[in-house]
Amino acid sequence: MRTTRRQFIETLSVGTASAFLPVGAFATGKSLKSLADPVKRIILDSDTATDDALAVLMAVTSPKLKVEAITITCGNVGFEQQTKNALYTLEMAGKAGQIPVFQGSARPLVRQVHGNATYVHGSDGMSDAHFPDPKQKPENEHAVDAIVRLVNANPGQLTLVAIGPLTNVALALLKDPTIAKKVKELYFMGGFYKFYGNINPGATYNAWVDPEAARVVFQSGIPLTTVGFDVSVKSSVFTDDDYAKVEKLGTTYSDFFMKINRIRRKYCKERQKMNGSNHPDAITIAAVIDPAIITEKITRFVDVETRGELTLGALAIDELGVWGKPPNATICVEASEALFKKMVFDTLKMK
Ligand code: CA
Repeated sequence: MRTTRRQFIETLSVGTASAFLPVGAFATGKSLKSLADPVKRIILDSDTATDDALAVLMAVTSPKLKVEAITITCGNVGFEQQTKNALYTLEMAGKAGQIPVFQGSARPLVRQVHGNATYVHGSDGMSDAHFPDPKQKPENEHAVDAIVRLVNANPGQLTLVAIGPLTNVALALLKDPTIAKKVKELYFMGGFYKFYGNINPGATYNAWVDPEAARVVFQSGIPLTTVGFDVSVKSSVFTDDDYAKVEKLGTTYSDFFMKINRIRRKYCKERQKMNGSNHPDAITIAAVIDPAIITEKITRFVDVETRGELTLGALAIDELGVWGKPPNATICVEASEALFKKMVFDTLKMK
């Protein structure tokens, strides 16, 4: 078979990048995108409580990811408690001192702090497990500065994964709008497609806590993918049978899973009409780790409702193109429950 000069060079490029994995030098040439399983470098932005903690565990133990930083944003419970929850999860996972944790904005851009989703996550955000204080402390640098610095130092290389309100991401984009084109992609856990909200009928928690921040992000031009509440309800619910299987594993991680989901599980069943607990942050990181988990996605123009009388924080998805604007977001519509659960079980079996 005749090999063209271009094919030859592409072969060389792939070989070179593979030899240096996981340094992350492989996002430069188009040909390198064909690499089967490149290690993704991510910044994980989180309001760490229950399901965030599972997402953190999955991220830091996945051989397919390199977590460059965890940044804490305002959201579920008290800001210092969320920081401790992220740090404790790292320690429990045997990663203490290996991944820096940066504290970002302790409040939304213009609205009051929510921070009391204790009815979902328990008073400590970890279903009242009351874990000991972690030894690792947060870094001195502000999370927003860290995001801007890391993205500028690694253009085209870093994936941002936002599993909380978008306050930190918006502030980073306001501080340095050029990062919108330097981030490889942004995954945001929020919204839904043809479904219903969990904080009002039109909105989901993360966009509702800081709708102005969400609007800044959706209007920024950043390559954006959403994994919504609907996907989590349809494809991430752990039933009583699943919990029984988790408990049977008898590992450190399965014990952690059982503890942090104790209150969440009850809340989801009794108040949210689910046959168990959903795991929106975990399925979002799962989609980053293995995009095959998402089985259907669409692109649409999306804006954010910041003045809704009844639907504050709703993602306004322009289904018919009535605004005549090009798509600015990829929306995950369907996911594989089987692949997701396999990934969670594979994680919980590790240790
Ligand atoms: Ca979260």
